[in-house]
Amino acid sequence: EIAIFWFRRDLRLTDNAGLYHALKSGLKVLPIFIFDKEILDKLEDKDDARITFINKEIEKLKTQIEKLNSSLLIKYGKPDHVWATIMSEYNVKAVYTNHDYEPYAVERDNNLSANFSKKGINFFTYKDQVIFEKSEIVKDDGNPYVVFTPYKRKWLAKLSSFYIKPYPTKKYFKNFIDIKPFDIPSLELMGFEKSNQHFPDQEFKDVLNDYGVDRDFPAKDATSRISVHLRFGTVSIRDLVKVAQEKNSDVWLSELIWRDFYFSILFHFPYSATASFRKEYDQINWRNNEEEFKAWCEGKTGYPIVDAGMRQLNESGFMHNRIRMVVASFLTKHLLIDWRWGERYFARKLLDYELSSNVGGWQWAAGSGVDAAPYFRIFNPYEQVKKFDKDYKYIKKWVPEYADPFSYPKPIVDHKLARERCLETYKKALK
Ligand code: FAD
Repeated sequence: EIAIFWFRRDLRLTDNAGLYHALKSGLKVLPIFIFDKEILDKLEDKDDARITFINKEIEKLKTQIEKLNSSLLIKYGKPDHVWATIMSEYNVKAVYTNHDYEPYAVERDNNLSANFSKKGINFFTYKDQVIFEKSEIVKDDGNPYVVFTPYKRKWLAKLSSFYIKPYPTKKYFKNFIDIKPFDIPSLELMGFEKSNQHFPDQEFKDVLNDYGVDRDFPAKDATSRISVHLRFGTVSIRDLVKVAQEKNSDVWLSELIWRDFYFSILFHFPYSATASFRKEYDQINWRNNEEEFKAWCEGKTGYPIVDAGMRQLNESGFMHNRIRMVVASFLTKHLLIDWRWGERYFARKLLDYELSSNVGGWQWAAGSGVDAAPYFRIFNPYEQVKKFDKDYKYIKKWVPEYADPFSYPKPIVDHKLARERCLETYKKALK
């Protein structure tokens, strides 16, 4: 009889809640990872850099586990098929994993759980990727918060050293099953190619001293760039909260709390992954002009700050937070294109793509979300340049042809006209 630990978005051996509990269970532990065909089949780009990233991290994990005379079983397929095979090959007594809050994952886990229980297999799942989950931070009447500030206040009041204590997995590494190394399914087999994208370091880049001041200036590169590692769990959120505390960086800690907040919103309001949180916003008569959408995607709107952001995204799989707000506002308000189009484009391109934060950010920009910007606040792209990139450093880095601003293509829409059109359209829908 063995236990299985299923790695998902927690690709590390240290301070991993579910892994800790599996290794302590008294059973020998076989670790596994599944390249989920259901998810992979939906990816549009053969050289999707996230698959290369996961592959690299999985290989690293496998090597680490093999040093412990065990191995990592890596499968490719639909989870229910993969599990059927595993259960026929091993005498599985229990399955351990960490929570995943996305609607697809919740449904998958519920189905698997029912299947496991029919076979007498225990399914244990744990909180790992957030500090507080589900209903841990709710209003006194038990309802979820939909405004950030009171959520944050309660989050901070509840935080204690207990919630950021690391899980000491290392003590129990001897409980990995003794087994010969397994093979890894190749990227080609799964229909992907290796990407040459550069990935930010897992080593924490200490930007916290000046973060409060510099974080809004995209040319400064003054943010941590840790998001992709948080996405795949190659770092532990508990470790990062500890760093924020040690450095007394309330502003940065607040960003980590936004992340928990959006996870909680998605958990409580799963419909908001694809529909406007404030339902009346789905009455907006979006223009959805395909050509303008294409110009936005390619960074050819004639607004240099928008174009720089989109090109940074297309080239590097990352975009600075301030600019994410600018391009999202531009798409939804200047072009009146449905926030879901933008959300899907980001989902395709961002290395750190996270359904909860992405939908949260998009609905914030469109005005339709929790605690969103009021609809009549429309970012002025020219003012954003003046405030946050006045020397055009960021713009010139990503849009080299801007070196000669006079020959730069004309804006695809006039700012003043777009502003008025937006106000009118939103007003009509929200009346
Ligand atoms: P830092 O400034 O160093 O912040 C540290 C960490 O805090 C981040 O890694 C992230 O985990 C968290 N964080 C920071 N800002 C936010 C925020 N506004 N909301 C939630 N968490 C935050 N973030 C994602 O991780 N995935 C997404 O898909 C995503 N899509 C976004 C879409 C839009 C339209 C907007 C406006 C924001 C989006 N964000 C998303 C939030 C934010 O832009 C990124 O988390 C941040 O730019 C990542 O860079 P960093 O790691 O250097 O951040």
